Amino acid sequence: MKNYLAKWKRIYSDTEQMQLYTSYVREWDERINAFIQFDPGGQTDDGAGSNGLLRDVPFAVKDNIAVRGFNCTCGSNILKGLRSPYTATAVRKLQDAGARVVGKTNLDEFGMGSSNENSAFGATSNPWDSSRVTGGSSGGSAAAVAAGLVPFALGSDTGGSVRQPAAFCGVYGLKPTYGSVSRYGLTAYASSLEVIGILAAKPEIIRETFDVIKGQDPMDHSSLPYEPVGFERKVTRIGVLPESMLDLQDDVMKGYRESIRKLQDLGYTVSEIDIPALEYTVYAYYTIATAEASANLARYNGIRYGLRDNSGESYEEMLVKSRSRGFGDEVKLRVLLGTYVLRSGFQDQYYIRAQKIRTAIRQGFERAFGDVDLILQPVFPAKAFLHGSAGMSPLQQKLADNYTGSANLAGIPALAFPVIVENGLPVGMQLLAPPFEERLLFQAAEKWQEAVPAAVCPGVPPEWS
Ligand code: GLN
Repeated sequence: MKNYLAKWKRIYSDTEQMQLYTSYVREWDERINAFIQFDPGGQTDDGAGSNGLLRDVPFAVKDNIAVRGFNCTCGSNILKGLRSPYTATAVRKLQDAGARVVGKTNLDEFGMGSSNENSAFGATSNPWDSSRVTGGSSGGSAAAVAAGLVPFALGSDTGGSVRQPAAFCGVYGLKPTYGSVSRYGLTAYASSLEVIGILAAKPEIIRETFDVIKGQDPMDHSSLPYEPVGFERKVTRIGVLPESMLDLQDDVMKGYRESIRKLQDLGYTVSEIDIPALEYTVYAYYTIATAEASANLARYNGIRYGLRDNSGESYEEMLVKSRSRGFGDEVKLRVLLGTYVLRSGFQDQYYIRAQKIRTAIRQGFERAFGDVDLILQPVFPAKAFLHGSAGMSPLQQKLADNYTGSANLAGIPALAFPVIVENGLPVGMQLLAPPFEERLLFQAAEKWQEAVPAAVCPGVPPEWS
């Protein structure tokens, strides 16, 4: 692993290496649009004192996570031109370990979407096939890793936004336990669901990065001290849902069955588990996520920061015009939905009900983890789909959050990993673990990577893979 990271340090060793790197990134980025801002020399908080493992290792950060001196657009017109005055705790910890931010990656506006097409900065394209999407909302981070532009990148996962693009781009993606990584500096979309996550081509990199960023932070009162639970347990039992609960495209079903077969070959016992409440994942997720989004996005009012349209006569007009011009359609839809489910007199019908489903899902996982160490689930019912109207509709995309949203509702960690490449496109699955048991995920993923090394995206030369 040291060697793998060492080769990335070369770009900061001399100007020629930096030039080679910069032209490699620019060439790819013209095709895939992974970065909203690429500036490998732009980091101001320099962990120069550090001699840690990550010294001079480059990484990319989703553009809804603050890095001082860089922009923080959240993929939105309303924040175009905003420069972060401070740095997110997770990023700062990596900088303290010596790592360097090379740029900010593209995303669905405020993290809302599954295609990376809901960005005011244009869609990101999949490095495996640029006529297709990367998945979202951390699509820029996933594409940058898959194309060999960085050894790892930070993303955020509110309902699947790290795991889904990881699966579409053939890389590993961790959504940690809720509260295990500080959210200070992560722009809020749905605060009770989201967490900063990591994307990388190798599970060891995810483990090492997670080790750096985890832990309690006085700046985030929902963060918790990370105390690995007890002794190092060996993973032996993996639970799966009955196939009748899954509705997957053929290639994805093939990947799912293949992953079960290979996990059995690796010595794991695979057995069926039963969590009936999972059937309601999407409904509970979108009720809670939009409710929280409508409150969190009230801060974009044209006053404090971001776009202000002063062409009207009154405060109200300024507010309406700024928000109408600044937000994209998907964001407007979700603010409206969130306001709707929170209307007075309707909370019982929607919000409270969704919270009850959330509890049932969490308890379902708790019960299941009495019998198995990890749970295997698909990430998304389809592989990377085509851009635009030839792809999936916004409603279809939401329904497809079925397999990812449950980990966010329950607050448990999940790791997406590449399984097969079918007709030129990667298929990924995910493993879920009890809270604060990320170690079990790494244990299984590293064993998996050894037995089934992930395919490298075509066009990525060995020096960047
Ligand atoms: N696809 C989900 C959504 O659109 C997940 C987004 C996320 O995790 N940020 O809300």
